[in-house]
Amino acid sequence: MSDRPSDGKSAPNFIRSIIEKDIADDKYEGRVATRFPPEPNGYLHIGHAKSICLNFGLATDFDGTCHLRFDDTNPETEDPEYVEAIKNDVRWLGYDWDDKLFHASDYFETLYERAEHLIETGKAYVDSQTDEAIRLTRGSVTEPGTNSPFRTRSAKENLDLFRRMRSGEFKDGEHVLRAKIDMTSPNMKMRDPLLYRIRHAHHYRTGDEWCIYPMYDFAHPLSDAIENITHSICTLEFENNRELYDWVLDNAWDTPRPYQYEFNRLNLDYTVMSKRKLLELVDQGSVEGWDDPRLPTIAGLRRRGITPESIRDFCDRVGVVRADSRVDIALLEYCIRNDLNYRAPRVMAVVDPLRVVITNYPDNESEELDVPYWPHDVPKEGSRRVPFGKVIYIERDDFREDPPRKFYRLAPGREVRLRYAYFLTCDEVVKDPDSGEVVELRCSYDPATRGGDAPDGRKVKATLHWVSEDHSVPAEFRLYDRLFSVPNPEETDGDWKDNLNPDSIVIKHGRVEPSVVDDDSKIRYQFERLGYFWRDPVESSDSALVFNRIVTLRDTWAKISSGGDQSSDSRSGRKKSLKAQDTVGTARAPEPKDKRLPALSPDQAKRANDYVDRFQLEGDDAALLASRSELGDLFDEAVAVHDNPRSIANWIIHEVLRELKDDDLTSIRLEPSALAELVALIDDGTISGRIAKDVFAQMVESGESPSSIVDRDNLDQISDRSQLEPLVRSVVESFPEKAAEYRGGKQGLIGFFVGQVMRKSQGKANPEIV
Ligand code: ATP
Ligand code: MG
Repeated sequence: MSDRPSDGKSAPNFIRSIIEKDIADDKYEGRVATRFPPEPNGYLHIGHAKSICLNFGLATDFDGTCHLRFDDTNPETEDPEYVEAIKNDVRWLGYDWDDKLFHASDYFETLYERAEHLIETGKAYVDSQTDEAIRLTRGSVTEPGTNSPFRTRSAKENLDLFRRMRSGEFKDGEHVLRAKIDMTSPNMKMRDPLLYRIRHAHHYRTGDEWCIYPMYDFAHPLSDAIENITHSICTLEFENNRELYDWVLDNAWDTPRPYQYEFNRLNLDYTVMSKRKLLELVDQGSVEGWDDPRLPTIAGLRRRGITPESIRDFCDRVGVVRADSRVDIALLEYCIRNDLNYRAPRVMAVVDPLRVVITNYPDNESEELDVPYWPHDVPKEGSRRVPFGKVIYIERDDFREDPPRKFYRLAPGREVRLRYAYFLTCDEVVKDPDSGEVVELRCSYDPATRGGDAPDGRKVKATLHWVSEDHSVPAEFRLYDRLFSVPNPEETDGDWKDNLNPDSIVIKHGRVEPSVVDDDSKIRYQFERLGYFWRDPVESSDSALVFNRIVTLRDTWAKISSGGDQSSDSRSGRKKSLKAQDTVGTARAPEPKDKRLPALSPDQAKRANDYVDRFQLEGDDAALLASRSELGDLFDEAVAVHDNPRSIANWIIHEVLRELKDDDLTSIRLEPSALAELVALIDDGTISGRIAKDVFAQMVESGESPSSIVDRDNLDQISDRSQLEPLVRSVVESFPEKAAEYRGGKQGLIGFFVGQVMRKSQGKANPEIV
């Protein structure tokens, strides 16, 4: 899963099936033409990326074309700046429209002519009511609308008025052109919808040539038809527009004609997605521009350092279905980490430096250590020289004068490892006499531990990153976090902007190892233990380095937002056990039959019920997951990454809990994404369930990802027949009597043989193929 190519064919979905059927039925002579139709009234966001990946992806997969069409029928909000930004973003995402670049404004003359055709055939009329009157006579969902007094105008009169509308005789709002359909239709969109309105406005392409502009519902289907689009794919909020789409094409167009299909729009937690809202944030200065790295705009994601590959991978995983939902931002972060893991060399930086003087290190000396860029589970090579000296910096966070339980990093009298260097012991704490703040540590190192291991075999519990004072380079670090502090900012009472996260950017001034200075400015790094970073493409310079944090190494958010115990190991990313506070009160919880189950608080009960409703988990299982927030969080995050809730729940309940015994999650090294990955490896047949248990045991011990354990230890399930055949043959040969019995009709022996093959392959054979 971790190295699943993000550029292969996209995942199957219902639209793909429709296209396959249309091809089989020879509906468009096998042709497939899709389009991405943005309105140039803002920058594209990651929701648009989903639509882009879908439309361009389908065209590629079916050897068709995908058009980029600017839906520019609204002169007041459109701007050439947006047109250029949109083109740039689509290209950056990796898609190419070749010569298929179009504008709805190119079709103004044809659209006008089609409108006259509707008038001539009695299907459209000029209405001279005010906007207000039109709105009031449209009725409601429960009440029919009423006909306009102008609905019975003759075709001749309508044509005359419409031509005069075009020639500029009337002011804005004096008349509109409406389709004559049915004011009592249950579908409000069909109640004589507006087709044209008067707007004396300058259009960025057609200038002052027009003062009437077509409405979306008229221009869009016809633009599709003019371009010979076959499948017009849009988001679900246009479902009710489909009837009108069909009406326009049935009455103002011939065949062949496109059909509209709707899919679920992307809604992402902790952010807003509409261009109007994004514009509001930009305009009022809540962010620094359309490319602010906190925004979900393509420009913002790009500046932040996220790659097009990870966005495409994400879009491929979110799913194209016909039901709206919200996507957990953990999935996006997973895709980003998954991509950067293989792309980002590991180097060291300290964002919040604490000075450390190594008292027994020779004065005025330094040395260079040869340090690999890649961890052993990334199949890449290369190293750099990292200088070490008498004075270094470590992360302020990595020291506690009075360490709480489970804080294993540096503290007075304690020994830790400096990554790739030496063991270090803290002997003395130097404080500012006025403020009491720790300003320096005096430490000693053990020269025999060079490289990070003690010849006498003694162990330390923590490894810290560091940089040398004399050699490191100052840098600014911009630590980005979620833009909003609640998952769905639009859903709360009051102004959605009140939910902006005040800590969505934290700026730190620290230091980075010197090796980065001469690197290509586009390199993404993993700053060890801190996250993935790259140089801000706008504000970083050779003389003043600025690094953007692209993503943290793991999800620390859950801990912060749920008010986790701040004295616990902050880098563990998880709360301490909530066992004590979890056993308060009972509520309408699934009845606990099992004595493993504690009573649930109302919130926990709600969570458990939610699991039963959403994932059809057994009540007991759901209650057990909900009873400890760390387990529930682990479950939620893993399910967001790999959609097999039952299996993930089983792994947590049986394997994770067994591993934990009475301890909390911080005691084992288990990332939600790693658990998800493990289950995915079983689901896609890479490993068997039995092997998965061994992998799991190694994972929680070493913190390594399951796929790298599988790769390293060669644990892939053997599904290849040519590899299995010799195994099967040798088993059959070693049990000649049983084989004879089997051949004689004792079919039940099949289980015995499969079992033997499994043993012989040490559990790696795929039993189904065997
Ligand atoms: P917004 O609501 O953000 O302003 P929009 O729908 O008005 O977006 P358009 O420029 O009209 O923006 O959209 C171009 C295409 O992108 C449309 O086909 C639209 O359905 C699609 N699209 C817009 N937002 C999303 C989303 N969140 N998820 C998937 N597709 C989207
Ligand atoms: Mg729109």
